[in-house]
Amino acid sequence: MEPIQINKAKTLKDLPDPATLVFGKVFTDHMFLMNYDAGKGWHSPRIEPYAPLSLEPSCMVFHYAQEVFEGMKAYRDPDGGVRLFRPMDNVKRLNDSCERLCIPQLPEDIALEGIEALVRLEERWVPSLEGTSLYVRPFVIATDASLGVHASHSYLYCVICCPVGAYYKEGLQPVKIYVEDEDVRAVRGGTGFTKCGGNYAASIRAGERAEEKGFSQVLWLDGVERKYIEEVGAMNVLFKIDGKVVTPMLNGSILPGITRRSCLELLRDWGYTVEERRISADELFEAARDGKLEEAWGSGTAAVISPIGVLARGDEKVTINGGQIGALSQKLYDTLTGIQWGKVADPHGWSVKL
Ligand SMILES: *Cc1c(COP(=O)(O)O)cnc(C)c1O
Repeated sequence: MEPIQINKAKTLKDLPDPATLVFGKVFTDHMFLMNYDAGKGWHSPRIEPYAPLSLEPSCMVFHYAQEVFEGMKAYRDPDGGVRLFRPMDNVKRLNDSCERLCIPQLPEDIALEGIEALVRLEERWVPSLEGTSLYVRPFVIATDASLGVHASHSYLYCVICCPVGAYYKEGLQPVKIYVEDEDVRAVRGGTGFTKCGGNYAASIRAGERAEEKGFSQVLWLDGVERKYIEEVGAMNVLFKIDGKVVTPMLNGSILPGITRRSCLELLRDWGYTVEERRISADELFEAARDGKLEEAWGSGTAAVISPIGVLARGDEKVTINGGQIGALSQKLYDTLTGIQWGKVADPHGWSVKL
């Protein structure tokens, strides 16, 4: 493929105050783009000034949601350098999502090179205040101007970036979660294992209702039997039960999180017994009643670790670890963020310096 063409912005934006950053509102000066056309393949990798895209109203992505995305962060390390965390895992997962959505495979080296070239160019946007980072959002959309229901013949791969504030400003705050018994996020055979916009569209209602009821998010059950736990909001979920760590196994309707995978690898390094298996809401609440549910937490790029302090199902409500963050959740958080920000040893080589 041709080398990446760089067309720099004529004027650069003022940097926002890193202390008041909100997620996903302010975007950097540039974006990475690459097109696909049937017969030609992926072509024209380029960096251009961040600007609105011009698309026909008939563009396929608007109607049939043939779209996939990723989410990752760039971190400022103590030497003033910039690091990504397991970025090739994001690119590979993007291609797994593409495969399910009938989007042609991206050349992985160029997809990653685009991300790295953009983050390098936007270096000044990577904040250095504790806990802050530059969020990177790669995505692919179907761009055929056609209402026919079939796979598009043309696509756009785009990467945009936004600086984000510290997720936790005053230590990790455990959240209140309730078990969703009406809506389901995904089913086996569907798109649950992919990061596609359609999954999010289907999950917004439950999230809104949870907030109305005073909860942060929902605990999703499987879509078939409505018995087994899948995820928490848009995070994977892990439990410490009677000394062991238990997490739902990847069954096709669960998103294979990179933070989840990293937690499991660290836990195994530390000698914990880790079980990836089906876990029912009944089992979980029974363990809580028996005093065996020691910790519960969500895992994902945004929060890294999000401890769960209260779990509710119907009229039953259980408090986990007195509503405080548990020692293991805290250790995972400290280790993962330490590796991401280049502050602690990284034996697996997850942190990639740009
Ligand atoms: C992105 C995502 C996660 C977390 O994945 P990470 O790679 O850890 O950020 C979990 N569940 C859903 C539904 C997601 O979209």
